[in-house]
Order: sequence, then C-alpha cells, then structure tokens
Amino acid sequence: MTDVPRVTLNDGETIPQVGLGIYGPDDEAASAAVETAIGLGYRLLDTAEQYQNEVGVGVGIKESGIDRQELYVTTKLGNESHGYDATLRGFDGSLGRLGLEYIDLFLIHWPMTKLDLYPESWRALEELKSEGLVKSIGVANFQEDHLRRLFDESGTVPAVNQIELHPGVQRRELRSFNTAHNIVTEAWSPLAYGNLLNHPTLKNVAAHYNKSVAQVLLRWNLDLGNVVIPKTVTPNRMAENLEVFDFTLQPEDVEQIVALENGVRNVYDPDLMDA
Ligand code: NDP
Repeated sequence: MTDVPRVTLNDGETIPQVGLGIYGPDDEAASAAVETAIGLGYRLLDTAEQYQNEVGVGVGIKESGIDRQELYVTTKLGNESHGYDATLRGFDGSLGRLGLEYIDLFLIHWPMTKLDLYPESWRALEELKSEGLVKSIGVANFQEDHLRRLFDESGTVPAVNQIELHPGVQRRELRSFNTAHNIVTEAWSPLAYGNLLNHPTLKNVAAHYNKSVAQVLLRWNLDLGNVVIPKTVTPNRMAENLEVFDFTLQPEDVEQIVALENGVRNVYDPDLMDA
C-alpha cells in the first residue's frame, strides 16, 4: 500500500499530500468510493455540504472500520451558511451528517464576496478550532484581497487555500502569495476535470515514464508542493492516482507541461459567486 507523504500546516498539523475528491457521487456512490479508497490507502477525504453526500462519506468511513485518528476528513461551509451563527449551525449539520466527533480541516467553500460575511464566518471557524471540534481551518477559492482582509481582521492565517490548479490554470501569483504567508495550496480539479487527459503533449510525456497522463498531472502539482484531491469513483483509477511517488519529472518535460496553460477554467469566479 502506498505511503502518502504529509505536508505540515502553519498550525503544526499535517495533511496527506494526495486525497480523494468526492464532488459528484450521491450518498450511495460516495459511501462505496470512500470504503474502497480507504482500503487502497487513501486517508484524506474531501467533501462539502454543497456536495450533498456527507452522509454517504460518513457511512463509507464507518464501513471501512478504520480508526478515526488515521483519517483526515475535510468538509466545507455551505454557501448559504455564511455569518457567525449560521456558520456554527452549518458546521453542526456537517458533523452530524458525517457522524463524526471532529473534522480535520474545515474550509470556507467560497468567499461569497457580495454577501460580505466571510470575515464573520471566519470568526466562527476560529471558535470551532479553539473548541477542538476542528483541527485546522482554511479557505477555498480565496483570492489575494480576500486573504488580506482575513489577515487584517483576524488573528489566524488560514492553514490551506483550496483553489483550481492544473496545467491549464497555473495560478502562479496566488500560489506565491499563499507560500509567502505560509498557507498550503491545495489543488482542486488537478486533472482538469478530465479535459487534459488526451492531450498529445501529455501523452508523450507520460510515455517517457511509463505512467498515465493522470499520474503526470498529479506529479506536476505535487512537485509544486501542493496537496491534490483527484476525484474518481473507479477503483483502478483510485489506485493509479496514488502511484505517483516513484518518478520525477525531468525539467524538459516540466517545461512542456507549463507551456500548456490555456486559462480554461471552471465557470465559477470567486468574485461573482453570490448565489
Ligand atoms: P478532477 O480534476 O479530479 O477530475 C475528475 C475526472 O477525472 C472524473 O471524470 C474522473 O472519472 C476522471 N479521472 C480520475 N482519475 C482518473 C484517471 N486516473 N484516469 C482517467 N480519468 C480519471 O475533477 P474534480 O472537479 O472532481 O476535482 C477534484 C475534487 O476537487 C472534487 O471532487 C472536490 O473534492 C474538489 N473540488 C473543490 C472545489 C472547490 O470549490 N473547493 C471545486 C471543484 C472541485 P471517474 O470518476 O468516472 O473515474
């Protein structure tokens, strides 16, 4: 079984560098995927209130029989639950649906800029951490201005910023900003939702290493020091996505991968997400 390395966060906790993304599957599929993934060696599971499968994730965890301390569970604040009290209620809901006593990493899923409540939501996350209900707190889809505002208005720097990041959308400036502030960058959609898997350049690079394109995409992100959470419900792909610690990309291949930036990104823009 692959031993997945861990990355140390600014609060001293550690997070596995590869995890399972669980956006998409319903409760039943999520439960099966989680149980299989844990059996294959996954320890980081990434869900969210928004994904409507926290119940299934919780069932999968239970069915796997694994010790809770061995697992690393991330969930995220619902976009409708911003504000101090609503965040505490939203968190309670997630914890109950997952059937857990604590969460390893709780993220604000989107800044919801137009609501302008994320600093208050962040205060609630700080409270949850101080109560021990959450080990680490972080954000997702935060841009530099959102982060600066948290720095100004609170005493806690997020441990993680989970953002879209793959060769098509490389986020250089935000990555440097995260690093400069000791925030770990976690890449969502590290496989570009499957869009780059047939790219001829990547197929060529993958062939050099006798690896798949998915493995090359993950290795590229890991070499940047990022945490990755590829999503799959297919057991052999889950196993494949963990087999990424036995090769190193050569500089000439990295150069070819970096040249693939095309700006094609998910439709959501953190400045416009106000629904
Ligand atoms: P990914 O980039 O992980 O791509 C997933 C797609 O790739 C699926 O179609 C999957 O198919 C396929 N796939 C996975 N592994 C392989 C493989 N080895 N070979 C071929 N195909 C493969 O996309 P996601 O958008 O799901 O992102 C990953 C995770 O990031 C999400 O599940 C979620 O946890 C998180 N996320 C967070 C967001 C946020 O706002 N914070 C936003 C979006 C995602 P199949 O499942 O059929 O095998």
